Amino acid sequence: MAAPEPAPEPADAIPRNVERDPDCIFCRIVSGGIPADIVGETGGTVTFRDVSPQAPVHLLVVPRRHLENAAKAGREDGDLLAEMLAAANRAAGAEGIGASGYRLVINVGPDALNSVPHLHMHVIGGRQMGWPPG
Ligand code: AMP
Repeated sequence: MAAPEPAPEPADAIPRNVERDPDCIFCRIVSGGIPADIVGETGGTVTFRDVSPQAPVHLLVVPRRHLENAAKAGREDGDLLAEMLAAANRAAGAEGIGASGYRLVINVGPDALNSVPHLHMHVIGGRQMGWPPG
């Protein structure tokens, strides 16, 4: 039996003042400065639809706080990374791909084609995928 979904954060737990980079597109989405199709929020994360979806479901989970990429994350970011993972799993369930499966991807650096320098976890699903990834 699937584990129960963690409860969403209450709205009053969402912080309004976090470290931001004014030139970062994902920081601007988090602050509401540019629009995005937001599907979930927690105290530390925002989840929205990828503007260029690679599958029927393609979401991005980002920390509210600007963190350049996964290579910059340390043990001190453990709670935040766990919060991102929980948000990704909850969003996948809400999108109806909890049982069929999904891929969680974090790209780091040029060989992985990381294009936005703000940590984000892709949640991709709704179709059969191949392995190894391209
Ligand atoms: P990555 O290549 O891992 O850095 O992924 C960056 C992702 O961000 C790509 O899949 C883009 O399609 C997506 N993206 C870029 N700008 C936006 C935006 N304004 N709203 C939603 N997704 C975006």
